[in-house]
Amino acid sequence: FLYNEVQDLKGCIRVYCRVRPSLINISDERSTIDYIGENGSIIIKNPHKQGRDARKIFSFNRVFGMNSTQAEVFADTKSLIRSVIDGYNVCIFAYGQTGSGKTYTMSGANLSVAETWGVSYRSLNYLFDISKSRTSIVNYDVSVQMVEIYNEQVRDLLLNGLNIPDAKLVAVTCTQDVLDLMKAGLANRSVGATALNERSSRSHSVLTIHVKGKELVSSSILKGCLHLVDLAGSERVEKSEVTGERLKEAQHINRSLSALGDVISALAQKSSHIPYRNSKLTQVLQDSLGGHAKTLMLVHINPEINAFGETISTLKFAERVS
Ligand code: ADP
Ligand code: MG
Repeated sequence: FLYNEVQDLKGCIRVYCRVRPSLINISDERSTIDYIGENGSIIIKNPHKQGRDARKIFSFNRVFGMNSTQAEVFADTKSLIRSVIDGYNVCIFAYGQTGSGKTYTMSGANLSVAETWGVSYRSLNYLFDISKSRTSIVNYDVSVQMVEIYNEQVRDLLLNGLNIPDAKLVAVTCTQDVLDLMKAGLANRSVGATALNERSSRSHSVLTIHVKGKELVSSSILKGCLHLVDLAGSERVEKSEVTGERLKEAQHINRSLSALGDVISALAQKSSHIPYRNSKLTQVLQDSLGGHAKTLMLVHINPEINAFGETISTLKFAERVS
């Protein structure tokens, strides 16, 4: 509790790092994670080097190790979710290479197993719980939008159309409503099941929850929204390896992720010019980045040695925006 309060005072951008457990059961020596500190530091070791040069330290607001649970991650996210009800716009981004655990953190693994529920599901439950506990004082309307950004084109997944900047808003009254919509939205991605994972790693998906509260006595209205963003995989593809469609995708992803990094780091530095116009992603989220909005970047890393290069570039990105 106290921890979150302190975090809130530190400004509007926070960065948490989460290390995915190893999927191949590696020993500690076979991991690139050397040390994780209580204070938000993480030390990465280069498997190809020896001595002091082999280690690099990075610092964030919080680091979640391999054994961290979904509940622990959410516990440190809750205060941000609560602020949506109080009229703030909040963006939560999951950043990292494909396979680093972005979708696991945001959506979870299996809805029938409560411990694995992700940030999105827990946030919705929490928002509906708070709104229900206040029904005698405030009347809340909750509605959602769901878009996918692929090759710099925004696609409304709830309307099944292409290039719709003002995505359809659907009213919801409970978490199950949202889950049903998400299922329908996913079906609208118009790709086969096997291609879906591939495609989802190359597009940004944005689930937006709008909350409008009307105070019963004064009739005053408070609006806030929460954007839950599962970003495209941040891995850099070798230009020599790809051509045609795949190269175009890769260029769009690189450009939009660096545009996002530019916007967040400009905000962190309180720069007078914030370059929102450089990508569709930052244009779509413009109203919720900066100003009185709050941003949480959840960066994901894979502890395995073959991911070392991507891990370093992910952490450098994260350091730049914090
Ligand atoms: P991404 O969305 O970044 O491509 P995923 O979330 O799909 O990555 O994760 C890749 C795999 O690792 C999945 O099988 C997922 O269930 C598993 N995984 C990721 N993070 C965790 C975690 N914290 N605990 C357990 N399994 C995880
Ligand atoms: Mg994913």
